[in-house]
Amino acid sequence: MQGGAEDTDCIEIKSERGGLYIHIAYCRKKCIYCDFFSAGDRIADWHGYVNAICSEFKERINELACPIRTIYIGGGTPSLMPIDEFSRLCDFIKPYANDLEEFTIEVNPDDVEESKLEIWKHKGVNRLSIGIQSFDDKVLKVLGRRHDSATAKKAYELARRYFSNISIDLMFGLPGQSLDMWTMDLIAAIEMIPEHISAYSLMYEEGTALTALRDIGRLEEAPESVSEKMFLRLIEELNKAGYDHYEISNFALPGYRSIHNSSYWHQQPYLGLGPSAHSYDGKRTRKANRADIRGYIDYWNQSYIEKKYEDSFYESENLSDEELIEEYIMTRMRTREGISLDDFHKRFGNNSCDSLIRNCKPLLDRGLIAFDENTISLKESSVLISDSIIVDMI
Ligand code: SF4
Repeated sequence: MQGGAEDTDCIEIKSERGGLYIHIAYCRKKCIYCDFFSAGDRIADWHGYVNAICSEFKERINELACPIRTIYIGGGTPSLMPIDEFSRLCDFIKPYANDLEEFTIEVNPDDVEESKLEIWKHKGVNRLSIGIQSFDDKVLKVLGRRHDSATAKKAYELARRYFSNISIDLMFGLPGQSLDMWTMDLIAAIEMIPEHISAYSLMYEEGTALTALRDIGRLEEAPESVSEKMFLRLIEELNKAGYDHYEISNFALPGYRSIHNSSYWHQQPYLGLGPSAHSYDGKRTRKANRADIRGYIDYWNQSYIEKKYEDSFYESENLSDEELIEEYIMTRMRTREGISLDDFHKRFGNNSCDSLIRNCKPLLDRGLIAFDENTISLKESSVLISDSIIVDMI
């Protein structure tokens, strides 16, 4: 992860610009590992949902004290959205987002069809994020994904006719997945030449079907040593193929880092719309919308007169100095560029900077982190123990 002046492709983070995240909380089918907030789309009230988002947007846009630079429609499964409702949403937001640099929509391979691709492109989407996860049909079936490998490849090819910036998601450390199978996944992904690849190790989250199945012995968790080898293989193969490992889980061809996600890692402000969406003002206030679809639709479809007597739909939290520093270290150390001591000093002052340098000293002595041009970053060789390094730095 160590960066040098000549090998970085750093996105210039313009502090006067913000991000807009829109959460579409419907899925066709729950994947067994997923703990994101979503509900089945058979009960979807798309019209009411889009009305609510437009209404929340109109009322909260002023919280974003800078122009919208990126839009990210995530979920859930945004690609399930009927195209007339998607168009209505985009038309509503468009006048407030004249200077967009990136507009991403998350897409399930099963939903990719020409009529949708046309509309997404026509309405200004310039980046697709396709949730492929694996090219192995058995593994996809275990995960409860809707698509199979052939569908994923077909969807990608079709999407390519419309979009020149495509990201794909992959997962590793999956039940029944060997290192060879993962290598085959990586080869298949590289052959497609997506501009961006995000790859995550499978997590056993509390309350998911996956965790329950493991706990009753119906499926076996991949040994940690295998997952680690898969992570190293991922880095090796993608580096060889010319991808820049710019964040622990993210890889991009030159010029194709995710601008929206990079803003999160650089403490930029964003407004999150939709049930369970989070917002950040770029200073110390975070807001989290309630995870309640019906409540969200009802709340934002009420008239102003009724609504103003109720509580807001979000919970607000003011971060302490310690929390801000923790978040800063945690997010920046996941990036190739790491922490600029000048920036850290400017934000948090002398004492915090001294304490960070003190905490880093033993890690530097052990060769686990790099210090270069007043910047502290993770070494590629330390990537497997990044979590414990970050904890030691805080
Ligand atoms: S499609 Fe995505 S959000 Fe929906 S259940 Fe599967 S992983 Fe979760």
